[in-house]
Formats: sequence, C-alpha cells, structure tokens
Amino acid sequence: MKLYNTLSKKKEEFVPIEEGKVRMYVCGPTVYNYIHIGNARPMIVFDTVRRYFEYKGYEVNYVSNFTDVDDKIINKSIEEGISASEVSERYIQECKKDMADLNIKPATKNPKATEEIDGMIVMIENLIEKGYAYAVDGTVYFRTRKFDSYGKLSKKNLDELEAGKRIAIEEQKEDAMDFVLWKPKKDGEPYWESPWGQGRPGWHIECSVMSKKYLGETIDIHAGGEDLVFPHHENEIAQSEAANGKEFAKYWLHNAFLNINNKKMSKSLGNFFTVREIGEKYDLQILRFFMLSAHYRSPLNFSADLMESSKNGLERIVTSAERLKNLAEKAEGTLKEEEKKLLEGQKEFVAKFEAAMEDDFNTADAISAIFEFVKFINIEAKEDSSKELVEAFQKTLHELSNVLGIILEQKEEILEEEIEQLIAERQEARKEKNFARADEIRDILLEKGIILKDTREGVQWKRA
Ligand code: AMP
Ligand code: ZN
Repeated sequence: MKLYNTLSKKKEEFVPIEEGKVRMYVCGPTVYNYIHIGNARPMIVFDTVRRYFEYKGYEVNYVSNFTDVDDKIINKSIEEGISASEVSERYIQECKKDMADLNIKPATKNPKATEEIDGMIVMIENLIEKGYAYAVDGTVYFRTRKFDSYGKLSKKNLDELEAGKRIAIEEQKEDAMDFVLWKPKKDGEPYWESPWGQGRPGWHIECSVMSKKYLGETIDIHAGGEDLVFPHHENEIAQSEAANGKEFAKYWLHNAFLNINNKKMSKSLGNFFTVREIGEKYDLQILRFFMLSAHYRSPLNFSADLMESSKNGLERIVTSAERLKNLAEKAEGTLKEEEKKLLEGQKEFVAKFEAAMEDDFNTADAISAIFEFVKFINIEAKEDSSKELVEAFQKTLHELSNVLGIILEQKEEILEEEIEQLIAERQEARKEKNFARADEIRDILLEKGIILKDTREGVQWKRA
C-alpha cells in the first residue's frame, strides 16, 4: 500500500510499526460552532483511510481530538453569556451527531484538551528541563532554534521565516520564531494551576500529549487538513521529538481544501456551509460520496451541480444493490456451471478497487471501479441466476461500499416506523398473553440490531 508522505514529499510503501496494527491520529475541530463542510472533508477522508486499513485486516487505533479551549470558544461564551465549557460541550455533541449522519465511525478515543492539562504540564516541564523551553513571567515558549530539524515537514527555513516576523512589544521571547506552550490567564478566561502560575496551554501542545498518551511516542500516521502543516504540525513535531527523543510520526497525510466558487471556504471569509445546512437539502450520504469523488490531495470545489451528479452516482449503486436484494430473496440453488466465470469475473473489479485505494487512497478511481462492477452486475445478475451467485455479488458490493462508508440499505426513517409498529404489535400480543408471538417480535427486532428494554414507563429501544 502506497501513501503520500508530506514529510518526504513522495509516495511511500506503508510499513506499520507493529504488524497488523495502525496507530493513527487526526487533528480534530475546534468546537465553537457547528462544523462546516470543509471540516467534514478530513473527517470523511481519513475515516475512509481507516476503513480501508480495516478492510485489509489491520486493527486501527484511531484517535481524534476536540480542541475545547481556544480564543474562539471563549469569545463565543462571552457573546452568549455562558461558560466556555458549555459552548464546547454543546458543539462536541452537535459535531458527533453530524459525524454519525456522515457515517463516520466513532474514534477509538476522542480526547478533549481540557481533560489532558496535567499531561501537557508534564511535557512542558520536560521540555524546560531539556533546555527546549523557557518560562518568562507566566508564559512558556518553545526554543525553536534549539530543535535542529525545525521546518522538515513544511520545508521552511527558519531564517527565511524569521525575516518576515517581528516580536511584538508585549512579548518577551528570545527569538521571533519561538512559540507558546503555556500562557498566563486573562480576566474571565478559563485557567488551570501550573508551575508557571494560573493559565492555559497553547494550541499545539495538546496533540503532542494526546498522541503520546493514547498511541505511544511514535505513531504510524498523523493527519489533518493541509493548512495544519505549518505551523501546527511543524510545532507538534518539534515538541514531541524534543521531549521524547524519538520520531513522532512516520507518515504525514494532508487533505487539500474544499472550496466554494473556487475560493477557499472558511469561517473568517464567511463563505461556508455547515454540515447541518447541507443536511437539510441533501441526504448526507451524498455529501460523503461527493467528498470521495476527488482524490483527497486535490482541491475540491463544492457546487450544486457536483452534488447533483454525486446524487445520481450514488443512486446507481443503491439501485443495483436493491435489485440484488430482490433477486436474492427469490433466487435458489448453488452456483451453476456457466456462472463460474462470472464469479471469477467480479474479482477484476475488486482488484481495480484495491489498486486504486492502494495508490494513496485514490477514491475517485475506486468509485469508478464500483461503477464498472455495478454495470457488470446489472447485466449478469438475472431472474434465473443462482442464489449463490447473487449473494456473492451482494457481498462484494457491500464490502466495497462499506470501505467508502456508503450505506446501501434503505434509510433509517422507514425502519423507525417499522420498529414502532412491531413494538405496538408486541404489546398487543403480550396483552393477549400470546407470549410466543411477543418473543418472536423481540427476536425479529434483535436481528435488525434493535434492543428492547421493558421499563415502567413503557418499552424503550436502542440500536445495538
Ligand atoms: P479547525 O476547526 O479550523 O481546526 O479545522 C479542523 C480540521 O478541518 C483541520 O484538519 C482543518 O485543516 C480542516 N479544514 C478546515 N477548513 C477546511 C476546508 N475548507 N477544506 C478542507 N479541510 C478544512
Ligand atoms: Zn493537532
């Protein structure tokens, strides 16, 4: 499997640190608002990377943080007259809801910055001890020049960078390129006790600390949007490698930006859509499919036209899956002699799909392979096909779609009605002491992944 490593600027063969395992850290959002569809791009793209590793049999430990202390969160809390933690908690929940609607698998761990302050203090103390950091009046700075390989990820040269930088009068740093690890509290801001007085961490330190705590000193993959290469990821490398004396991450993956009208989409420019807004107009599966229609390192322009064509593309796959489902219900028997070559034939599409994904996760080509497979299915799966053949097509189509996180079943809304109906029927059966039927309904629901709980308030259900 080849992936493009920002560090070497080349596609490299993926070799895991530990056989069969992937340790992966993806920088998550700052939670002060609903996430916008630009934020959704890394979430979708790296969830797909994770899914492909899992498809190949790897066990993936996937960590993605929530930055829940930040100037923007504090400003929002002042605007709304609520605490910063109320702001961040609210938007973490909203973000998780959007992620579920985008069929993004829950991370192994979603650490929050505010819950990891102790670890940050330990790492900062370690950096001071080693001479990589220094404290001045309650602020701690990283001594950038002391870290020899500073700039290795972004290919920036310290002297060139320095030429464009001036030290602001209120700053007491030794060098213009030094960056903040800890800052003193300001009135009305959240703060924590530290050896340097009351204050809060700078932004970069959280990822160094959480990555180490949950994944170890050296990890396989560190990922995020391309705007994070400098300074965020460059500073993370400096902090982690200076503190641990070890390589921080082996592969650095960065997605290109999602644009609107060919302009960078960002909150500060005001030209953005939230995932929630798009969800009001489209099924969010379409947004997911759209995001994967381009290679993750290519800029992608959001437009109604492209969403429309993604909608049609997705429909083609879903319709084919539905047809297979209907055929499978009626079909019978094992593979016929003349079907053997068809079973063999489908391997070509799987091979194409995998070749695309192994080439630095080229989801655009992987989708083309699925379209070709769908065309093949639509011709070769017939009313008189054997059950074995139809089910084999079904299984493959589901497996490939699952890598992209595309759900082929009917939407859940319909299912919910069905659930409520079955629960009502079960209640009736129990009233009539028809316990056999009541149990049967419980089992039918269980098969669909619905767990029932009888409570004093009535029957409650949840998805397994
Ligand atoms: P932020 O909340 O700004 O820290 O962003 C969270 C993640 O979204 C980071 O990985 C960013 O690089 C990424 N991101 C932000 N805007 C965009 C965009 N327009 N296109 C793609 N990725 C983005
Ligand atoms: Zn980060």
